[in-house]
Amino acid sequence: MKVLAVNAGSSSLKYQLFNMPEKTVICSGIAERIGLDMSIFSLKFNGEKYEIEVKIENHKQAIALVLEWFAKYKVVGNLDEINGVGHRVVHGGESFDKSVVIDEDVLKIIHDLSDFAPLHNPANIVGIEELSKALPHSIAVAVFDTAFHQTMPAESFMYATPYTWYTDYGIRKYGFHGTSHEYVSKQAAIMVDKAYNETKTIVCHLGNGASLCAIKNGASIDTTMGFTPLAGIPMGTRSGDIDPAIIPYIAAKENMDAQAVIDVLNKKSGFLGVSGFSSDARDISMAVAEGNERAILTLNLYAKRIAEVIGAYHVTLGGVDIIAFTAGIGENAGDVREAVCRRLTALGISIDEEKNLATRSKQTYISDSNSKIKVAVIPTNEELVIAEDTYAFLV
Ligand code: AMP
Repeated sequence: MKVLAVNAGSSSLKYQLFNMPEKTVICSGIAERIGLDMSIFSLKFNGEKYEIEVKIENHKQAIALVLEWFAKYKVVGNLDEINGVGHRVVHGGESFDKSVVIDEDVLKIIHDLSDFAPLHNPANIVGIEELSKALPHSIAVAVFDTAFHQTMPAESFMYATPYTWYTDYGIRKYGFHGTSHEYVSKQAAIMVDKAYNETKTIVCHLGNGASLCAIKNGASIDTTMGFTPLAGIPMGTRSGDIDPAIIPYIAAKENMDAQAVIDVLNKKSGFLGVSGFSSDARDISMAVAEGNERAILTLNLYAKRIAEVIGAYHVTLGGVDIIAFTAGIGENAGDVREAVCRRLTALGISIDEEKNLATRSKQTYISDSNSKIKVAVIPTNEELVIAEDTYAFLV
């Protein structure tokens, strides 16, 4: 059976076609910079990579291009061969604690939740509608970023704000990157050779967006992102947690409204804001090596915040079997992992420095034999989770 996994971000659309249950990738690709001056569209198939620069105005055009190239490069003989399409949907609110087959009611709830994720849910809806039209014979499944975190206890997901904000407006921590945290924590349990429902894991998903998650006995019990993906640790362009009183203060000083300040916290903060030159961890690492002080501050501030969360989750979990680093930075940036782990000696953590610096996107331990807690790099695979969840509805 063929299953298509679709991950529509605010300005990108990633896709992978799988053979299931074999879990083999038939093709993959991405439409980047959707809505900007020039977009990039690519397809990897049969060991070849095809890429063009073309203007893609919206997600509807991106999907049309995916299907056009499936025909052009004969990825499938006929679109009817695709049995299911799994869609990443960013916000499922409290309505969904697992993946679901999309029908009119589900689509309406995803639409109503757009208020909570205005950049993402509308893009996800376009993906669902366009592919459902093009592939009327296949089932469509929604896989939510928030679903895995629905197991969090109230003491983790509630803010200390008026309770009516929660009951009237849904103000609470939802958490994101759920598919990645779930996938990586399952791999982690296999690595330590324990049953998933008996393992305590901390997953550090460090990409352009970043969050940590405490997983106890197969369930998320806390995570760093909150009501929106702006919360938690600093990210490429996002501030993570700050004192909320800063928002009206800066609004008054710079003559902006609250939303404009939030835009700065989303798009001009994090690595970019502190370093003053880049949101990309590779640029920060290079500048650190050259002794750039603002880059060194960026790295240190980032590593300190991550280490503090790991310390807190160690307490919340009552001990940890394994700490896993994943996503672009977590999988590749040995210097970041080292800067985090160096701050964790109080937990008895020590890493094999050579191995750590050499490890890139490969599942392996980086802790040494003296370490009281195992530390590993575990590459994430959100698209595979999407395909698996979709396939589960086909058998
Ligand atoms: P993601 O959002 O998971 O794609 O991760 C993007 C982040 O990963 C960016 O900050 C990149 O700089 C970082 N990244 C990707 N590859 C590397 C690498 N080889 N070394 C260091 N950082 C990397």
